[in-house]
Amino acid sequence: MALNFSDCTNPWTTLLLYPEQGGCIGPCCHFAPPNGAFPFGMKTGESLAQVWNSEHMQQLRRSIATGKPHFDTCRTCPTLRFESNFGPELTDIISQTSLSNYQIDNAKAALSHFKSGDSEVSSFPLFYLLRFGCGCNLKCIMCNHDAMRKNHDVGSLDFEWLNRQEDAFKKAYIVTVTGGEPLFIKSGRDFISWFLSNEKLRGVDFHICTNGILLDTVMPLIKNHNVTLEVSIDSFGELYERIRVGGSWKRLADNIDAFLRIKEGQKPNNMLVRIHCTLTLTGLPGLPDLVRWTAERKLGLHFAFMEIRELTDSFEESMLDHPRWMRQTVPDWGHLFKQTISILEQEDIYKAEAVQLKTLYDQLVAVLNDLHGFQVDRWGYEDRMHALWRQREVRQAEYRHLQEQCKQALLFLNRKGIFVPEMESLMLSCGLPAMHEGKTDTLSSGIPDYEEQLRRIEALQYEVVELRNQRDNLMASRWRKLGQKLGIAKTLPFEMCK
Ligand code: SF4
Repeated sequence: MALNFSDCTNPWTTLLLYPEQGGCIGPCCHFAPPNGAFPFGMKTGESLAQVWNSEHMQQLRRSIATGKPHFDTCRTCPTLRFESNFGPELTDIISQTSLSNYQIDNAKAALSHFKSGDSEVSSFPLFYLLRFGCGCNLKCIMCNHDAMRKNHDVGSLDFEWLNRQEDAFKKAYIVTVTGGEPLFIKSGRDFISWFLSNEKLRGVDFHICTNGILLDTVMPLIKNHNVTLEVSIDSFGELYERIRVGGSWKRLADNIDAFLRIKEGQKPNNMLVRIHCTLTLTGLPGLPDLVRWTAERKLGLHFAFMEIRELTDSFEESMLDHPRWMRQTVPDWGHLFKQTISILEQEDIYKAEAVQLKTLYDQLVAVLNDLHGFQVDRWGYEDRMHALWRQREVRQAEYRHLQEQCKQALLFLNRKGIFVPEMESLMLSCGLPAMHEGKTDTLSSGIPDYEEQLRRIEALQYEVVELRNQRDNLMASRWRKLGQKLGIAKTLPFEMCK
């Protein structure tokens, strides 16, 4: 049955907190910074109840209750278009016997507010997603946070503000922390330690999205909490370390095993590990070993294609964007997929995961062979993407050259005692120390135009985003038609839904 806009319970149940713009919120991951998320006064002492009932949130509830999308994000809601539900049913949560009275009363109140379409609510969120920032201990080859880190520091959530919200958190069903790497960011680490040391929060499911390397720093606190680890692991052993630069397979595997030993001794046993595997070209040969290792430990497993949102050095790692390159550089790619699928099929608990990986494999085959009328490459998507990537490399080399020229020019002017404000701000952005003040001058026409070069690089990124969107829309519609024809409309991989 198709979803309706007014079925969305998120504004009554879910709160995402982001550090950008000094603190902002959203009711679902589609409301993300820089556009879409609502600002809030994390530093000015607004309480969580005030944030949850802020004018923006009330406006959102009113718009959903009346079935008239007020915000652009809701007008183009991907969940509405591609998913079969907006999240767990509130009635299912209420019927869970393991929950505390606080949690059940809160869920009942949220359900009642949702049913009445109330814009102001007495209930608190049932689900939290706390994104602590983009800092990380690793430098993974496919990470799309890298550009964000280079361009600006988004800051982090205020731990002092969060730890005053104990009364709200104890009424929640799930609290999820993420980053960057939340165990690397100081406020994230403080929050995790505080949460895991807090007896009153024991009944709340606590999910940590992590690369797993720093887990040993909080392991002693994990006992007796409902902790789920959502761990990003994309390959096995040495191949893992080539992708997750700075990581250690041994430390990671030891951490997971230590967690499983704690889980063994805990009754009732409500601790989980889920592996999130991003498929990359480098990691592909290690996929069968990763799946064997996962199966030995009976861990949860989820696969996703690497996403290209902008041109990065690791563009060629994306199989879906660059399938012919994959075929050329990993000639046995099909065998590796089939071998991994077969390992999964032999395990009763991984039947769904086998189907999921097979769906991704089918998608690659379809793109490469232009099956099922996908015709994705008929308009030369891969070649156009690749040409843009090459252009970017040339532009970046030019940019680095200009940067060096500017640096020399500025050092020269500075030696002469001439101060050039425009140049100084540019140089500060390149990490040069502040210049001594001297005689003020303006940029001379002989100094290369940095900003124009930056604009050109940005224009390339826009072109990529546009191209990618065209491709996604095309594939999503083809995939839906194929799904409808085969009666498997819900096999559309999530990446295609964005
Ligand atoms: S974007 Fe979609 S999921 Fe998010 S609040 Fe709007 S309708 Fe709900």
